[in-house]
Amino acid sequence: MTRLVLATRNDHKVHELRQILGDLVGELSLDVVGAGDVPGAPDVAETEVTFEGNARLKAVALAQATGLPSVADDSGLAVDVLGGSPGVFSARWSGSFGGAGLSRADRDRANVALLLEQVADVPEEHLGAAFVCAAVLAMPDGTTEATEGRVTGRLVREPRGSNGFGYDPIFRPDSDVGDTRTFAEYTDVEKNVISHRGTAFRTMIPILRRALTP
Ligand code: IMP
Repeated sequence: MTRLVLATRNDHKVHELRQILGDLVGELSLDVVGAGDVPGAPDVAETEVTFEGNARLKAVALAQATGLPSVADDSGLAVDVLGGSPGVFSARWSGSFGGAGLSRADRDRANVALLLEQVADVPEEHLGAAFVCAAVLAMPDGTTEATEGRVTGRLVREPRGSNGFGYDPIFRPDSDVGDTRTFAEYTDVEKNVISHRGTAFRTMIPILRRALTP
């Protein structure tokens, strides 16, 4: 069995990656685990200024510390009229990251409120945005490979829906069939099919097959 470590302590993300990798898990007899399941996994500060840079930092540090193939991702929301911000600062856009003992839900609400305030006087037709995700596979020998996923859409001024997290309630993905739901009104499965993270990880499948086939 080949162990593949995902650079997160979030069980939901590990479950999501297993789902996205699908048949590959059986095909390569993969044991996909989170950073919390392996000894010596480091907590790495996201000090780079690109999604790919941060994902590489986390994946390389994890592969070095554990001696196992490691995958990390970094993602965020890029608003056109804000020149791609909040971008890599998405999680801490309202400055409340880790501060004042805020829960993740409170932090998400503060981030969404600030962003909506910043675009309050921006005309509707200029509210284009995209969720972006970079995924990086790092091997114990130090080699890395990166993929990217992106889903374009628009901001809505009134948060809608209760699924998902972060900016999901104010992001309406572009749709060919006139679907006007926000990501927070999609089910997890529906979101995975088109999401930035789904695309980045699905693009990773042939790379993993090549790198991990015994
Ligand atoms: P991370 O990649 O898990 O560190 O996510 C960075 C931040 O980007 C999150 O805290 C959210 O604010 C935002 N973000 C990333 N992906 C999504 C998503 O799928 N929906 C909503 N917000 C997201």
